[in-house]
Amino acid sequence: MKIAITGGKGGTGKSTVATSLALELSKKGKTSLIDADVDCPNDHLILNIKREKIKDVYQPTPKFNFKKCKKCGRCSEVCRENAIVFVKGNYPILIPEQCIGCSACMISCPYGAISKSRKKIGTIYSGKIKNLDFLSAETEIGVEEESPVVNALKDFAKNKEKERNYDFVLIDTSPGTHCNVISALSGVDSAFCITEPTPLGQHDLKLILQLLEKLKIPSKIILNRADIGDKKLIQEIAKKFKAEIIAEIPYSKKILKAYSKGLPIKHESIEKIAENLEK
Ligand code: SF4
Ligand code: SF4
Repeated sequence: MKIAITGGKGGTGKSTVATSLALELSKKGKTSLIDADVDCPNDHLILNIKREKIKDVYQPTPKFNFKKCKKCGRCSEVCRENAIVFVKGNYPILIPEQCIGCSACMISCPYGAISKSRKKIGTIYSGKIKNLDFLSAETEIGVEEESPVVNALKDFAKNKEKERNYDFVLIDTSPGTHCNVISALSGVDSAFCITEPTPLGQHDLKLILQLLEKLKIPSKIILNRADIGDKKLIQEIAKKFKAEIIAEIPYSKKILKAYSKGLPIKHESIEKIAENLEK
């Protein structure tokens, strides 16, 4: 069973829930936690896992041969990322930060003036705590498009899943609804959306539920800090999207202390979710 832990909004306790649930599930069966928040991975810090580097992630990038270039501008026309600036009568200029390595320019150059080079865009790590297998990846600073790093992490995870035959795989996505979140969500059986009862929580929950509906992924809601704010805000959205609120985690001193220390929380609602998943 593969479950995404996601949420439209950052700071709702997504990583804390993901790590706590992963630890709970690892008591019940073979479990893997994949931290796909490649911009800011922190699950290993919460779990106090010392990560080991597995491999670097590279992306193709164009290399221009100006001896062959006829200044036709085709490469700039086909680049949907606007990563190639072309001014008539001049050689094209690459903006490396914008390039996502799609190879369109290399294929389209009529004069074979663009060859394939590569640049490092991220690193994949692994680790372990008790029975829990752990994978994460981190994007290089300055890389704008993170989905290739998420895809590389998921490809690596897929091989490991075949080897280990996990009972549970949890994928902790980035917050938001960007391409890297879509990459992390692809292929999951279900998604748990972590939110809080505030207008901003409601707004962002609506966005992630809309995305999950489009991707045809069944979704459930975990309401964090459930006893502050206005619960009705979330209940309305849950009803609209037919997404059940499966757990409510209160705003308690004990949990706050765990948050502030970056520790996984222990709460009966997390234990109950793990029990239901086991069943
Ligand atoms: S498509 Fe090829 S020939 Fe045309 S401007 Fe680009 S690199 Fe030069
Ligand atoms: S590889 Fe794709 S994104 Fe990069 S410059 Fe070429 S067309 Fe643009």
